[in-house]
Amino acid sequence: MWAGRGIFSAQTMGEPMNQTSMLESALANFHRAADRLQKEFPLDVLDIIGRPRERSEIMLAPRLSNGRVCAFQAFVVHHCSALGPCKGGIRMSPSVTLDDVTALAMEMTWKCALIGVPFGGGKSGIVADPATLSAIDKQTIVRSFTRNAHRHIHPLVYVPAPDMGTGETDMGHIKDAISFSLGYAATQGSYVTGKPVILGGIPGRREATGLGVAVAVTQAMKSLGRKTAGATAIVQGFGNVGSVAARALAESGFRIVGVSDQYQAVYSEAGLEVRALLAHVSQHGSLQGISLGRQVPHATLLEMACDVLVPAATGGQITVANADAIQAQIIAEGANGPTTPAADDILQKRGVFIIPDILCNAGGVFVSYLEYTQETQAAQMTEGEVRSRLEQRMRERFLAVHDASRERGVTMREAAMYLAVKTVCTAFIARGTLP
Ligand code: NAD
Repeated sequence: MWAGRGIFSAQTMGEPMNQTSMLESALANFHRAADRLQKEFPLDVLDIIGRPRERSEIMLAPRLSNGRVCAFQAFVVHHCSALGPCKGGIRMSPSVTLDDVTALAMEMTWKCALIGVPFGGGKSGIVADPATLSAIDKQTIVRSFTRNAHRHIHPLVYVPAPDMGTGETDMGHIKDAISFSLGYAATQGSYVTGKPVILGGIPGRREATGLGVAVAVTQAMKSLGRKTAGATAIVQGFGNVGSVAARALAESGFRIVGVSDQYQAVYSEAGLEVRALLAHVSQHGSLQGISLGRQVPHATLLEMACDVLVPAATGGQITVANADAIQAQIIAEGANGPTTPAADDILQKRGVFIIPDILCNAGGVFVSYLEYTQETQAAQMTEGEVRSRLEQRMRERFLAVHDASRERGVTMREAAMYLAVKTVCTAFIARGTLP
């Protein structure tokens, strides 16, 4: 068994998994892959690529519209740049921690390697609640983050993107803040992806992660010999990823029987009209007050009858506390780290097919890569081109992971991690080691 070393090697497997942090889960997944790769790569290399290169905690002190200077904690983590500049979104949440950001940066390293883009893994966090901020205060905080984290952000160092609590408007403000500080009308090269199309963004980026989830699910159904038409799905989280995945799955013939956001969870055996859900959210900002389906407790929704469960909210949602009760036969991880390693073991024993996050939600970073290359080459791609390249890449990588999982007799997560960590180790060794 891989023993690892130092602070990033804590063995957490014996702890109650409903208390497992995202970092403990990410490390446990890495240790399992490292264990398999010990015969192929030196331990030193595995040890080093398992550690974050840089973890920074930054204090923001913007003056908000109430006239007061308020302190906000922010974090930037560069996990590994063996394959290229670090890539990863900015999470704005009242509960995000430096360890969460470290876990998410680490997962980005594996995700970029697996989906085949020349990026390393990075991530940022801002401890603030976007739901309680006015648009102008949110912009002030995002601009403050950009000023204070500027030294970390560069097309050849770390390129942020949206994550939970941030979106394309925020990326536009980051681009503007950086251009302004450099004294240019625009920046050369891509400092940030997921921007509005009018500011050099790429058509289809906003939808890319959710569409990629739907492509992975339909390919899984095909590979497992199941029919999509009439199959049922529950989607947890109705933001960027979940709402787009729900719409795309409905368009592929799925009956969406349950959805939730942090305010409300609804279920209907007959199926929920996704267009009506989207219209409600666009009018009211959330699912709160929706009259479709019947209201159910949030935790219950995950355990209700369906063929496919798409956790697309936040980490640590599927734990030892509910893994036995989940009825879905396929879990498509739209969110990062939604399943703890102990829950993973239970689901695996029960024969549940899990499409792991580093594969399932990699469509976003793949299209971010297209945006990055479009901007660095001053080219333009159409939405049709973006969509067809996204679908092709998701299918190819799904099949590569599925083949590896069958050949090696391991789960999809183990196969995905094996392929990803192997790619990063190979790049690390090819670069050589500085004295
Ligand atoms: P978002 O902020 O747009 O949406 C999050 C949604 O989850 C909201 O509807 C929110 O109300 C809901 N939610 C939060 N806690 C919940 C809970 N306990 N139960 C039910 N719903 C809850 O965020 P997003 O961009 O859609 O990201 C969702 C997940 O997908 C995150 O884990 C993120 O890291 C991951 N992800 C996002 C992208 C991307 O391109 N946006 C790419 C890869 C992975």
